[in-house]
Amino acid sequence: MKNPFRVCPFCEHPAPKGDFLCSKCRTLIQEYRKTPKCVICGQDKGKLPLCEECDKKLPPFRLAISCYYYDGVMKDALLAYKLGHQFYKAKGFAMLMAETLKTYHITPDVIAPVPTGVKSFAKMGYNPALEMAIPLKKILKIPLSGGFLRKKLFAVRQSALNGKERVANAKKSFTTLPHRKKKLQGKTVLLVDDVYTTGSNAKECSKLLLGMGAKDVYVLTLLGNAKR
Ligand SMILES: [Zn+2]
Ligand SMILES: [Zn+2]
Repeated sequence: MKNPFRVCPFCEHPAPKGDFLCSKCRTLIQEYRKTPKCVICGQDKGKLPLCEECDKKLPPFRLAISCYYYDGVMKDALLAYKLGHQFYKAKGFAMLMAETLKTYHITPDVIAPVPTGVKSFAKMGYNPALEMAIPLKKILKIPLSGGFLRKKLFAVRQSALNGKERVANAKKSFTTLPHRKKKLQGKTVLLVDDVYTTGSNAKECSKLLLGMGAKDVYVLTLLGNAKR
């Protein structure tokens, strides 16, 4: 994949010809893919093949894929993207997501980004998941629809809450747009988000999409749980 900016989306150092990441970040992120992950939620949570959480209760999605750890240079880059208005990183992030997705044999019919609340949108100026989903759509050549789900107006942001609170909060944060139901019937959805933390948002959004008639939901996030 070509990198139009010729700089690494993580550290901003020049990227070598033929790659879109600098060699240092390339080595760094390769470490992440080496360690085994839970076969369902894709996180590094110790117990294998299923982490304790998935073993107790299977999530509604078929599989979640997180490309890299929410740690170090990747975490800094994501924060700069979300809070430092480094909007242009979206394309590099999408390239990484596509690169990871390619290693799985998944053929989604449609991409659906996790929606952002009005307050976050006002703060950041954009929906981070949607901005990554736009170039991802072009790379994967599958349609994108931001119209299946909506975040409720007064939804509380997950980052301020602990694990248990996040589950309850996610349940009341999202709603569906029923008039879009037709477009989802029997479709395999790729739900895209920036980071998988507890998975509460991914689980709730997947549940809603399946309830609207989607056949399957796969979750793809740029970053996932940092190694414990
Ligand atoms: Zn780099
Ligand atoms: Zn799991």
